[in-house]
Amino acid sequence: MLRVVVDGRELSVPPGLSILQAAAGQGIEIPTLCADARLAPSGACRLCVVDVEGEARPVAACTTPIRDGMVIETHSPTLEAHRRSLLRMLARPYPRDVVSRAPDEPFHRLLLAYGLADEPTGSAEPGKVDDPHPTIRVDLGRCISCWRCVRICDEVQGQFTWRVAGRGPTTRLMPDSVTTLAESSCVACGACVDTCPTGALEDRSVLAVGAPTRWTRTTCPYCGVGCELLVGTHDGRIAAVTPALDAPVNRGHLCVKGRAGHGFVAAPDRVTTPLVRERGSWTSVSWDSVINFVAGRLQDILERHGPGAVGVLGSARATNEDNYVLQKLARTVLGTNNVDCCARVCHAPSAVGLKHLFGTGAATSSFEDIEAARTILVWGTNTTENHPVVGARIKQAALRGTHLVVVDPRRIELAQYADVFLQPRPGTNVLLLNAMAYTVLDEGLLDEVFVATRVDGREEFQAFIQPFAPEAVSAACGVNAESIREAARLYATAKPAISFHGLGLTEHHQGTEGVMALANLALLTGNLGRPGAGVNPLRGQNNVQGAAHMGCEPAHLPGYAPLSDARTRVSAVWGSEIPEQPGLDAMEMLDAAEAGELKALWVVGWDLLLTQPNAQATRQALANLDVLVVQDLFLNETAREFGSVFLPAASAFEKDGTFMNSERRIQRVRKTLEAPGDAKPDWEIVARVAQALGRDDLFAYPDAEAIWEEIRRVWAPGAGITYERLEAPGGLQWPCPDTQHPGTRILHEQSFPGIGPVATLERVDPQPAVEVPSVEFPFVLVTGRGLYQFNAGTMTRRAATGEFHPGDRLAISERDAQRLDFAEAQPIRVRSRYGQALLPVEITDRVPAGIVFATFSDPRVSINQVTGTHRDPYTHTPEYKVTAVNLEAT
Ligand code: SF4
Repeated sequence: MLRVVVDGRELSVPPGLSILQAAAGQGIEIPTLCADARLAPSGACRLCVVDVEGEARPVAACTTPIRDGMVIETHSPTLEAHRRSLLRMLARPYPRDVVSRAPDEPFHRLLLAYGLADEPTGSAEPGKVDDPHPTIRVDLGRCISCWRCVRICDEVQGQFTWRVAGRGPTTRLMPDSVTTLAESSCVACGACVDTCPTGALEDRSVLAVGAPTRWTRTTCPYCGVGCELLVGTHDGRIAAVTPALDAPVNRGHLCVKGRAGHGFVAAPDRVTTPLVRERGSWTSVSWDSVINFVAGRLQDILERHGPGAVGVLGSARATNEDNYVLQKLARTVLGTNNVDCCARVCHAPSAVGLKHLFGTGAATSSFEDIEAARTILVWGTNTTENHPVVGARIKQAALRGTHLVVVDPRRIELAQYADVFLQPRPGTNVLLLNAMAYTVLDEGLLDEVFVATRVDGREEFQAFIQPFAPEAVSAACGVNAESIREAARLYATAKPAISFHGLGLTEHHQGTEGVMALANLALLTGNLGRPGAGVNPLRGQNNVQGAAHMGCEPAHLPGYAPLSDARTRVSAVWGSEIPEQPGLDAMEMLDAAEAGELKALWVVGWDLLLTQPNAQATRQALANLDVLVVQDLFLNETAREFGSVFLPAASAFEKDGTFMNSERRIQRVRKTLEAPGDAKPDWEIVARVAQALGRDDLFAYPDAEAIWEEIRRVWAPGAGITYERLEAPGGLQWPCPDTQHPGTRILHEQSFPGIGPVATLERVDPQPAVEVPSVEFPFVLVTGRGLYQFNAGTMTRRAATGEFHPGDRLAISERDAQRLDFAEAQPIRVRSRYGQALLPVEITDRVPAGIVFATFSDPRVSINQVTGTHRDPYTHTPEYKVTAVNLEAT
């Protein structure tokens, strides 16, 4: 610690801080306008200057490092007079009435504190207002040229949208479009709004709803990054969402979905009473009546057809507590292991592949390891759109010089920052990964020490890998051999190297084996069990890892414990038998429904009709059910077409609980608003049905925390995680086996759970793509998500985010568009062996010739009418990424 004197007080402060930071840590506030903890100090505003004994002139506190023995004066009369005159200069041309309207803006607080609130004499200038952006209002009349917006756009988001134009008195802020923010490269993350000290940049939602009067800390309900949010409410409505500055995941940053995607909560078509469909029409009913109805129908089917005729699907958007209660109901009340969640259709291959090689089916490291890595390998994830806050961290790392290898059939944004960009043919992941493994062995790049001590099967693997020289597979992958070698060299030698993968690796007929082949690469190169290394699936939905981990899995109990191992133990805690036979997974449930064997399905927070592949088959399956219970916020497409009963659920903003993010982090979800009408938390609805079926004893939970306490008893690696401990920023990462345990940032430092210190390389034979382009179907359709719409769009279509992305488009290369004579936005028909969809084209250089790409968030398009039937044999995860299609002008 350093010993310093500040304003006459002797203080001990840690080294490595600026004077500003050290003083702030001791509760001494030095005025500033250009400083923001998320940004490198600029020393531009000169407001923070302080006197340091021995210095001839005052120094900027933000840029001057604190040193041992310093004697500092922060608020002398001379310094205060200097600050007052600086503020006066800024205040004079400032609009007159703004300070009193928004006294909490940092600049306004300073004017008030220095008695300068009446100083502004300017007036609002309509010409300086830039209005058309869907989420941000710009009023350059309130800009004081601190350039925090420019710096945060560069230094945190890496978008470089805001520019400083002109010189001297004509200096001004402008977006890179040179016109409006709406026409610029802005991705609406809102970081500029967040840092602006005057309100020159403002959230439209605040203007519409009013300034927040209450703030609640919670976790984002969108992707698996798990950003911590501060939700500001006004009169029972969400007025603003800002990032928690001390959150280790997002470190004071959000993406457009987290910041502006909350409008769905107050959407006019929110369902607020239970509904039962009678003779084709929905009728509102009371909770008592609907609970008795659901219980009665389930009981009837159980009696007539047995427990195997009933299935339950949990929700990746619901909390751990909701999912835990749901799977417990399936097992103890309905007597079936027919319980699953939508991890089935995304990252089940990651869980199975990683568990098979490493003993734990989850990310091995943390987002913190991005900054510790020397090389980042990004495989099949459009990170800046689908996990934008992680994408921004990767971008910043690359800008600082971290090596980046990007593998994706599309030229995604990160490709422009990559040292090596590989653009393989869809469906050739295993081949390409084997070629990288070959290179590591061929060029002697493997980590001899790690392999000798932690890896088994080297010789067999060496023999197996011989046919996969980059030169031999290059043509099949569509990637040149030297680039494959270059990627392997970086990953193996510029260490530590970390990988992040997405659905581009898992949603394939060889998805699980693709994950295993990636894990092989980490083992060969020793990129595991240390900071800056590891293999990390980026989970799509906020709690998809948690839903499966809580037991919404047909062959696993809570903690992803195999049914066969954990059945007796968990039965003892529950005081109720658990059926022995593994159940059907989601894909098998729909197959069984189509075959007339599954009679009742209860689906929570998952629009099957829009998201399952081969929509015709899904439609047939749902039509065959005797009872379809849909529990959601909205009458989604599944409910609208096939639902028998609709149970209105509370959103993540309206209940308590926890989510589990991609890096095994449990974080609190806190109630921010009252649920509208009669909507209830998912767990409460499930518990009421269980009680109606006679199991009050097992489901008498007073609140979400009581459920969590039970989860701790059945899940040993989570036993140390309590709600009280989760009050700390960032919550806790499992394993966390006892209440003294700090949580685990990095897995496999010494050994592999259930395996021992040594993991075995898996020899993965590449299988040919199941759908290859032909004369009849000459294109490959890849489906995926985008920045502004989330998944099926159930929430984002009903929020400001929807304004950025009004509907799905078919991305096509310029070459193909020219050849087929397609014009931008022209509606075309996409046809496959399974079905067809109609959507407008978007001509882009992001997809290569022969490949087309579409999102699946638009019910008017329903692109899953086109995707096919192929599945990964280990997990039944569908092949969403390779469907041979034909394109026709309509
Ligand atoms: Fe939410 Fe993900 Fe965006 Fe973070 S990155 S704000 S968790 S959607």
